[in-house]
Amino acid sequence: MRNQSTTLLIIGGGPGGYVAAIRAGQLGIPTIVVEGERLGGTCLNVGCIPSKALIHAAEEFEKVRQYAEGSALGISAGTPAIDIARTVAWKDGIVKRLTGGVGALLKKNGVQVVNGWARIIDGKTVEVIEHGDDEPLRIACQHLLLATGSQAVELPFMPFAGNVVSATEALSPATLPKRMVVVGAGYIGLELGTAYRKLGVAVTVVEAMDRVLPAYDAELVKPVATALKHLGIDVRLNTSVLGLSHDGQAVRVRDAHGDESAIEADRVLVAVGRKPRTEGWGLESLLLDMNGRAVKIDDQCRTSMRNVWAIGDLAGEPMLAHRAMAQGEMVADIIAGKKRHFAPNAMPAVCFTDPEVVVVGLTPPEAEQAGLDCIVASFPFSANGRAMTIESTDGFVRVVARKDNHLIVGWQAVGRGVSELSTAFSQSIEMGALLEDIGGTIHAHPTLGEAVQEAALRALGHALHI
Ligand code: FAD
Ligand code: NAD
Repeated sequence: MRNQSTTLLIIGGGPGGYVAAIRAGQLGIPTIVVEGERLGGTCLNVGCIPSKALIHAAEEFEKVRQYAEGSALGISAGTPAIDIARTVAWKDGIVKRLTGGVGALLKKNGVQVVNGWARIIDGKTVEVIEHGDDEPLRIACQHLLLATGSQAVELPFMPFAGNVVSATEALSPATLPKRMVVVGAGYIGLELGTAYRKLGVAVTVVEAMDRVLPAYDAELVKPVATALKHLGIDVRLNTSVLGLSHDGQAVRVRDAHGDESAIEADRVLVAVGRKPRTEGWGLESLLLDMNGRAVKIDDQCRTSMRNVWAIGDLAGEPMLAHRAMAQGEMVADIIAGKKRHFAPNAMPAVCFTDPEVVVVGLTPPEAEQAGLDCIVASFPFSANGRAMTIESTDGFVRVVARKDNHLIVGWQAVGRGVSELSTAFSQSIEMGALLEDIGGTIHAHPTLGEAVQEAALRALGHALHI
């Protein structure tokens, strides 16, 4: 047994763990990160980045396919073809550049990376079997930061195997299926379902609830539902999955009326949520307080055990990379003696469907539930010049502000490219902007951002372009 000691030991090198490590390194805290697979975690290797790469490739392919059918823009093209192996290799290249960059940043900041699976001995000791080494390494630490992330939820009657895949496999297909069933119309189901459809696959999405993206309000997801239909995606709502057919070539489902049927599929993507990764590495031995399946934390990411911290997906919803990173950065600051709390007013959530959806702060129903008397105003992209020039006039920007003092408490948008508006939305809420601040700011013309200003002006009763 080899022994080592450090001030901060981080289990997991995903966005939460690696950002905590970089910040700790900057602050001069001796830090070790233990990573069992690859630096960058779910996000860089099998999540955010590869999914956005595949979505981009699919959009480019779809564009050429549309041009091949004739276009109002005067562009024509031959029938496109796709070599999916090259697409995957291109995506892997981006992942490699980014994960290599994380390794370089950790090194630059003096962080030691241990490649292996960590097992908790107690709140101050972890054992690691390093890859390619039989002798365990025992690391003692003053602070233990848990950042092991999450894993895909499996349907017990249709486990991941063969043609039944999770997002991980769906992001690296060796071949494209002819027909794919996607179980779950949440983030992953709709982002990847849309990409596969644009790559020419016949896609059916099966969702248990009565609308797609049920976490968002109905008005916001309407343009997404319309676009799915337009793309030719078959969406089955209020439908439950029963399992695979005997020959494994179809998915058996039951609709809201109790009628059963089978949907042919040569691949099934199950995207019914993710759960914190709490098993198999000795976490239970710490007897930490839990919040459902997640490790319970306070507003400083402290667990119920002194000097044991938890961040990111392991600590539950919202399971978003930018939340994990923000928590990681904060924990390093606190360990270095700074006074910090995790209490963001704005936690942006973006769904990279076509059109994209952005939610920051409170939606109208949430504001009402919080007992706030609010003004709600929308500005449609059909009245925005830039939206017309990029052929994307569906969708809108919506603002929610307090009636008494005009403080903006929420922004939502749906439309092509609106993910980039999330920055302005978050900043305006964190900086306590009033409707007058946004309405009185000059927004560049022609941009989608003008719809942000116009939504604020409309809430004040004097929008200019509608
Ligand atoms: P993870 O990224 O899961 O990292 C945890 C790391 O810990 C892993 O590398 C794992 O190997 C390691 N580990 C686990 N146990 C041990 C152990 N015992 N010993 C050593 N190492 C261990 N979020 C967004 O904000 N935007 C998006 O666009 C987005 N797209 C996504 C698309 C997909 C397909 C998926 C699946 C997720 C997406 N997410 C997105 C969510 C995002 O990936 C996660 O919220 C984020 O990765 C969480 O970071 P984390 O550091 O908590 O955990
Ligand atoms: P999700 O929670 O977003 O969606 C799961 C969907 O599956 C829900 O609509 C739910 O009603 C449905 N469902 C659950 N059980 C079902 C069943 N048996 N049959 C039919 N439908 C069923 O989960 P996800 O899409 O797997 O994504 C997991 C998490 O990863 C997200 O919650 C998010 O935190 C993260 N993520 C984020 C992004 C992003 O930020 N753009 C992208 C992908 C993933």
